Amino acid sequence: MEIKLESFLLALEQEVASYHTPVVDLIAVQTRDPFKVLVATILSARTKDETTSKASLRLFDKAPDIHALAGLSEERIRKLIQPVGFFNSKAKYLFKLPAALRLYADKVPDELDELLKLPGVGRKTANLVLSVAFDKPAICVDTHVHRIMNIWGFVNTKNPESTEKALVKILPVKYWKRLNSILVAFGQERCKPVGPQCDCCLFEQACPKNGVTPRRLKKSNAHTMKFISWNVNGLRAVAKTGFVDIVKGSGADIFAVQETRAWPDQLSDELKDIPGYSSYFAQAKKKGYSGVAVYTKKKPLRVTTGIGVDHFDDEGRVLTLEFADFSLTNVYFPNAQHGLKRIDYKIAFNNALLEYVKQLAVNKTTIICGDFNVAHKAIDLANPKANETNPGFSIEERNWMDRFINGGWVDTFRVFNQEPGQYSWWSYRFNARSKNIGWRIDYFIIDENSKSRLHDAAILTDVLGSDHCPVQMELKSGL
Ligand code: SF4
Repeated sequence: MEIKLESFLLALEQEVASYHTPVVDLIAVQTRDPFKVLVATILSARTKDETTSKASLRLFDKAPDIHALAGLSEERIRKLIQPVGFFNSKAKYLFKLPAALRLYADKVPDELDELLKLPGVGRKTANLVLSVAFDKPAICVDTHVHRIMNIWGFVNTKNPESTEKALVKILPVKYWKRLNSILVAFGQERCKPVGPQCDCCLFEQACPKNGVTPRRLKKSNAHTMKFISWNVNGLRAVAKTGFVDIVKGSGADIFAVQETRAWPDQLSDELKDIPGYSSYFAQAKKKGYSGVAVYTKKKPLRVTTGIGVDHFDDEGRVLTLEFADFSLTNVYFPNAQHGLKRIDYKIAFNNALLEYVKQLAVNKTTIICGDFNVAHKAIDLANPKANETNPGFSIEERNWMDRFINGGWVDTFRVFNQEPGQYSWWSYRFNARSKNIGWRIDYFIIDENSKSRLHDAAILTDVLGSDHCPVQMELKSGL
């Protein structure tokens, strides 16, 4: 079916008319001041609208123009703008802004190339300032615009910059300025990054749904809990590609994360305090290495970091949350490393972890999730023969997985899906993800006695931002 971009946007504009207006548009309408629009746009990156709005008001109260901003110290700016995401970096940028604007007679320039020279201003920010503050034709492509345009098939691109270039060729100029606020509202409300609500979307029939796994409506009324696990390959890095929106839009009761590579004091408040969730962290002694986190809607009865063995716990790989009727152990298993240099450490860790979760399983449903750093069987990777002696598919690791599963544990994904080509990790090299040359190394495992509580399991391949994608499990509530 041929679909027309303009008719999609016309229909969507009516649909989102009742949604809330993005904060930068509001500030532009209320102030008509390019300085305030630029500052609010810098503050808004990776920050929820409500927080941006309050921080902007506090800052503009003390610095209503560039001259007043020049009178504030970096420390004062930092205090005024907290808790916006990345407030340390943003305070640095704003502190340097008056000096940078001196070149333009203390005015915000209205050309893309000049805006891009300002501290903290990337393409997305520059285009938003051009369109919102100066009413110039510019397309601001953020993660929502990039994602939805690819879902609709109007572009086929790998990153926001390529999307912007493609849209310049196909999008009528009259939509350039409005596109961002329309699609951001739609991406937050309906076409969410995880589980888009296709069943009640006005484009349900016409949308090609490229790369999308729509939310599934429950066949039964049984209450289920949704669990998601994702190796984010750096929590601060994935925050730049919409992590907080992904968690908020996921509908997950528990969202477990591996390879955070950060201590909690290195994380923005936005990452530690996602609305509706409590968050818990375990970190390695070594900064920037390993680390796991769990976001949970329901407060746990008990939280335990590690497994009680110092030389394993120093690597910040395990976090257990206990609830009334289940426990969840979130694990980032060691990598056996090139030449299997760390295979002994890995197998020793695996065995100690197994003893630990066996104790938990005595009393209640026990869930283990995370990056196991091993593909269990040949069906779980694209090139099993070539990888038989490599880390992640070595005979030692596969044998351990055999012993583990045969000891009374269930690989939940394989209960629902026996197909090959189902992967959760792809190398960044050789376009492996687009060719689906991958490995299934991320799992949700539950104890065999609780198998009857299983409702569903899936791999969320359309969620981008890491070399892994999230995996998901739904469990019938036991209480
Ligand atoms: S049908 Fe689904 S994928 Fe397509 S726009 Fe609507 S919510 Fe998004």
